[in-house]
Amino acid sequence: MSGPNTNYDPVEVTPLHADEVERMRAEAVAAIAAATDLDALRAARLAHAGDRSPLALANREIGALPPQARKDAGMRVGAARRAVNEALSARQAELEEEREARILVEEAVDVTVPWDIEPRGARHPLTTTQEFVADVFVAMGWEVVEGPEVEAEWLNFDALNIPPDHPARTTMDTFFVDPPESGLVLRTHTSPAQARTMLTRKPPIYVVAPGRVYRTDELDATHTPVFHQVEGLVVDEGITMAHLKGTLDHFAEAMFGPGLSTRLRPYYFPFTEPSAELDLQCFVCRGESVGNPDRPCRTCSSEGWIEWGGCGVVNPRVLTACGVDAERYSGFAFGMGIERTMMFRNGIEDMRDMVEGDVRFTRPFGGEI
Ligand SMILES: [Zn+2]
Repeated sequence: MSGPNTNYDPVEVTPLHADEVERMRAEAVAAIAAATDLDALRAARLAHAGDRSPLALANREIGALPPQARKDAGMRVGAARRAVNEALSARQAELEEEREARILVEEAVDVTVPWDIEPRGARHPLTTTQEFVADVFVAMGWEVVEGPEVEAEWLNFDALNIPPDHPARTTMDTFFVDPPESGLVLRTHTSPAQARTMLTRKPPIYVVAPGRVYRTDELDATHTPVFHQVEGLVVDEGITMAHLKGTLDHFAEAMFGPGLSTRLRPYYFPFTEPSAELDLQCFVCRGESVGNPDRPCRTCSSEGWIEWGGCGVVNPRVLTACGVDAERYSGFAFGMGIERTMMFRNGIEDMRDMVEGDVRFTRPFGGEI
């Protein structure tokens, strides 16, 4: 209905009515204020200040107005668009500031928070005790040797002068590996490492063999079916019981402190002759509790000595069985339990504490890795 000569009534261009422009402005400002983050604000900008926004479309209509109406409409729409742009800038600044503040909080690093809340792992005190023992001998020039835990029955018994009908076999409650004819056992002591060493190297031999051993014992305060021993073996010319005694004195001092003596008490082992049980002077009372009711000692039951291990001069039959010239060489051997050693050193009364894996037990030993 419009034509070149028709009088154009601005009232009919609805989007340019003052009410309508004001409504568009208010709607835009409300949408901007409602934007709670920068993404929402971007959407509001597109909807209310973009090329297809109501105010932009209204602006295009201005050209269609008669010249006298354009000025008013232009001012009205221009003012509304400026207001929208100002609201956008202000809200943009606000939201950016909020975002910065939030990042500062969310990404803050509290340098005072303890960094080691996750406790570090550490080796078990049995392992470190075992290595301490090995170090004592390595410092004297000895070597550390190892043997398998599943061991040939012959090496666990026969080679050590414990033939099949020997009563010592029945005293060591042995785990036999299926099938019985396999001839394999879980080693009942670290002594087969002696036999393995003599079979594979020539004297002079100075070795220690720490390791895990097995017996069919029930777990109680002083027994465990899996425990650790350290075996010592020397084979050389002219080796006597005196060398054994001197070595054990040094070992005891290294483990329990200076000035402690050891005592050899006659005993029987098939693989040594003569054999002895090794007693250690009580490191708590140092013998002062003996015959002294005023100073009882729990560690040694006021006997002044505690049993630590077994030892002796290597039986020539063992040397011969392992291919060593028993006429020319002699040797000594000893063995003690690592658990027992640790109980003495650290005042532990119940062996079960050592195998239950409770960190409350191991933590006081420190975090040595
Ligand atoms: Zn004592």
